[in-house]
Amino acid sequence: IGKSSKNHQLNPSMVRLKVKDVQAMPVIVRETATVNDAVVTLFLENVGSLIVADAEGILQGVISRKDLLKVTLGNPSASTMPVGLIMTRRPNIVTVSPEDDVIEAARKMMHHQVDSLPVVLVHTNDKGIESSEVIGRVTKSTMTQILLNLLTDAY
Ligand code: ADP
Repeated sequence: IGKSSKNHQLNPSMVRLKVKDVQAMPVIVRETATVNDAVVTLFLENVGSLIVADAEGILQGVISRKDLLKVTLGNPSASTMPVGLIMTRRPNIVTVSPEDDVIEAARKMMHHQVDSLPVVLVHTNDKGIESSEVIGRVTKSTMTQILLNLLTDAY
């Protein structure tokens, strides 16, 4: 069978991909980290946004490149501010679960116009209060890698 016969066929194992199959390690800072700390971490970890979690790894928020740019513009004292003051805070954080399909993660990123999603396990305590334990992240870069694998297989 010629290679071209596979053109445009989706590899079924890719269509069934779960978030847990593709997630990356989360890059996490605490709410008390400064804007300066956050910028340094963005560069060192080569990511576009950081997940903010507490000492137990429970999701508190997300801080992105543009959040950091915005607060620094025309504000010389911004670098010592804690990220907790400027991050996007829960419950307004869009997340995925490790068992979700990758296509669901892609839809959420497009729909909410964000570049990354924390992967979380949701726990409910005895008072019925939910908390989200951060276990990974998926990004637009993850999606591009999947697309590349898919197209490389198809051609
Ligand atoms: P950038 O701001 O660098 O373009 P994003 O597009 O990911 O990066 O972020 C846009 C805005 O949405 C920022 O204010 C950021 O805090 C927020 N944000 C990023 N990821 C999420 C998420 N998963 N859920 C909710 N808000 C998010």
